[in-house]
Amino acid sequence: MNYDLIVVGMGPSSVFLAYELINTKKYKNILLIDQGKSVEKRYCPISKTNKCMGCKPYCNITCGFSGAGAFSDGKLNSYHLSSKDSDGDIYLGGNDGGYIKKYMPKDEIFKLLEYTDNIYLKFGADKELKGINYKEEILELQEKSKKQGLNLVSYPIRHLGTEKAHILYGKLQKYLKDNGINMLFETEAKDLIIEDGKVKGVKIHDIKNDICKDLFSDKVVLAVGRKGASWLSDICNKYGIETKIGSVDIGIRYELPDKTMAKINKYLYEGKFIGRPFPYRDKVRTFCQNPSGFVSAEVYDNGLTLVNGHSYKDKKSTNTNLAILVSHHFTHPFDKPIEYGENVAQNLNRLAGNKIMVQRLGDIYRGRRTWEEDLNNNSVKPTLKGAVAGDLTYGLGYRTMTDILQFIKDIDKVVEGFAHPDNLLYGPEIKFYSNEVVLDKDFQTSIKGLYSIGDGGGLSTGLMMASASGIQMARILSKK
Ligand SMILES: Cc1cc2nc3c(=O)[nH]c(=O)nc-3n(C[C@H](O)[C@H](O)[C@H](O)COP(=O)(O)OP(=O)(O)OC[C@H]3O[C@@H](n4cnc5c(N)ncnc54)[C@H](O)[C@@H]3O)c2cc1C
Repeated sequence: MNYDLIVVGMGPSSVFLAYELINTKKYKNILLIDQGKSVEKRYCPISKTNKCMGCKPYCNITCGFSGAGAFSDGKLNSYHLSSKDSDGDIYLGGNDGGYIKKYMPKDEIFKLLEYTDNIYLKFGADKELKGINYKEEILELQEKSKKQGLNLVSYPIRHLGTEKAHILYGKLQKYLKDNGINMLFETEAKDLIIEDGKVKGVKIHDIKNDICKDLFSDKVVLAVGRKGASWLSDICNKYGIETKIGSVDIGIRYELPDKTMAKINKYLYEGKFIGRPFPYRDKVRTFCQNPSGFVSAEVYDNGLTLVNGHSYKDKKSTNTNLAILVSHHFTHPFDKPIEYGENVAQNLNRLAGNKIMVQRLGDIYRGRRTWEEDLNNNSVKPTLKGAVAGDLTYGLGYRTMTDILQFIKDIDKVVEGFAHPDNLLYGPEIKFYSNEVVLDKDFQTSIKGLYSIGDGGGLSTGLMMASASGIQMARILSKK
């Protein structure tokens, strides 16, 4: 039970770490563990049952080989130097693309992203880049946005589509297996073994056989994603691992007709609007836009059900969905952004019988809840079957709701129909990032031999950046 390296989690950050270590040939005995299943066994029953079945022991959308990547929309964002954030800084993805900028110069990050993109291409990613044509039309939309105090970010996107993402990660799983990487599925990391400030291994629970074991290694990488953010926070508290107060993104999934979004979908594929709406001036952004897509539900720890969205390469709806997220940063004495987000999610889940809640925009304006029959008569039909009609204003919090409604009105001046009363809001959509785990330049935590990569510790916020953080981790480890 001794390994040269143990990686907790098998999301894209972990997969790309293992891929790159095979190339360097430095580590012989590598173990990856995940509480979910291998990619071919991952299946979300909602397409048949029309409602989230709360898969046990873990949600198939977020857990297993390739983590949240397997059922993701598979939008690979190729950021470039001219993509600017609303604050004039280079845009590297939602929530600033994570903290990787703190540990690497930007030009190196771009080289790393290019390298990572080439691996995705090698394993079958679509060669076509969206968002690079229509320069004049994009500029016109950007000028219009600027007048409303909005920044419309444009950058090239490679779109895998959910079903193709599954196939691509399947090929990567085979590649890792064929090259001797050990993988334990349906196995959860319960705890770490830490002695004298050094990591010694991982305490695991084999879920299927209900056996607990200790596995040893003096190098452990935590790649637990947003799914494991809460677990990571507990581990940091238990072992005094240094962290900084992080943030939480709280909001809704917005669904509207493709025809309203036609220009944005055609010119940019994904319209990344960022603004600081009146009166709070919080950072609000659109995120993960899915033309002709489907709204989905995913179940997190503590049984929390959160909304998300994706789109297939072939199967199409007539709606576009996108997240509208408000970044919340708390200051002393409150230092628990995850708990804050969990409370919001819990309230909304309870109000909707542990399902996702949906409400018409027009009903929010009129100060009334939405009823099932309102949805039946609505021009925009919900693509998430089983979402419960209700009143989001009971649970989202005044500040978040005000930010979102003002932001929708601002975008409406750029995209006519964006604030149409029949458009749908689903909640809660929350992006948990654990408190920022403080790392040195080698992504090492304050515990010797213990590293953190990917979305979980806040280093990344999307597929490309998470994968790139894995590659960088491999390069660092191969020099040790
Ligand atoms: C529906 C959906 C659509 C998305 N669409 C896009 C998109 O189009 N573009 C984009 O850039 N990003 C998208 N994302 C986000 C993207 O999937 C994530 O940013 C990315 O997967 C993060 O990679 P990661 O390796 O950090 O962690 P994850 O992919 O979250 O993987 C973490 C893994 O760790 C495992 N784990 C956690 N804790 C433990 C533990 N204690 N023991 C054992 N295993 C554990 C989990 O089971 C999981 O498999 C989407 C996400 C979802 C859910």
